[in-house]
Amino acid sequence: MLKYCSIGSGSCGNCHYIGYKDTNILIDAGLTGKKITQGLNSVDVDGKNLNGIFITHEHSDHIKGAGIISRKYDVPIFANIDTWRAMIDKIGKIDEKNMIVFENDKSYSLNDILIRPFSIMHDAADPVGFTIMNEKDEKIAVATDLGNITTNIRDNLKGSDLVVLESNYDKEMLMMGSYTYALKKRVMSEVGHLSNEEAANFSIDLINDGVKQILLAHLSRENNFPELAYQTSKGILEMSDIKVGRDVNLDILRRNEISDLFTPNNGSGVIRANGTSR
Ligand SMILES: [Zn+2]
Ligand SMILES: [Zn+2]
Repeated sequence: MLKYCSIGSGSCGNCHYIGYKDTNILIDAGLTGKKITQGLNSVDVDGKNLNGIFITHEHSDHIKGAGIISRKYDVPIFANIDTWRAMIDKIGKIDEKNMIVFENDKSYSLNDILIRPFSIMHDAADPVGFTIMNEKDEKIAVATDLGNITTNIRDNLKGSDLVVLESNYDKEMLMMGSYTYALKKRVMSEVGHLSNEEAANFSIDLINDGVKQILLAHLSRENNFPELAYQTSKGILEMSDIKVGRDVNLDILRRNEISDLFTPNNGSGVIRANGTSR
């Protein structure tokens, strides 16, 4: 089964682990090398057995530890050409053989998994989300830093067993909060972030498209808190007669915590690593 663990999620740093059989990848590496190594250890993966670090975009909360991990464990970094150009000066020297360029909206096989970067809207050079599939058609998607939901995003997420979806801010908290007007405008813009409400409304589409598990991610420290994001989504889903626990499993990825290990369990949602069904 595909395995997913969040090593960190939020404006302070993002790093997702996905594994299948002997293939282990990271999506983003926006934490310190030490924290990433700790996260890998928590899922019993040695950094030496990492097959790649896939980068969504060049913001520091997504790339901070990428160079460190690449050098420490001799791991290739995968990104599109514009992201490479934008991050090359920020991650230190990378061995040429570990600099790999992909194109958006194409699928690539890496050992036993198929990975597909898809274009998203965000204020970075050429940002992407990713889907990861195996030969059993299990599918995990990571979609954060979304200014806007496009048909391309929805098409790519369709049929995922598990979607890691941004639920960045509560609109009222953002409006009332300490951010400058310019920053508030940036967060809410078409190339900013997804609010709790927007995430919840998109979740309805995802559930109609067969998604069984949604992990709310990339929560803002200033303008959100986990319970609020969870309750907002739950409330909006229930207004559409979607019951959390019955029709979908909903969880929150906490900013500074390593999550449980999630695995798709065909038909009946997801079981936790400890075996408890949620
Ligand atoms: Zn970003
Ligand atoms: Zn971010």
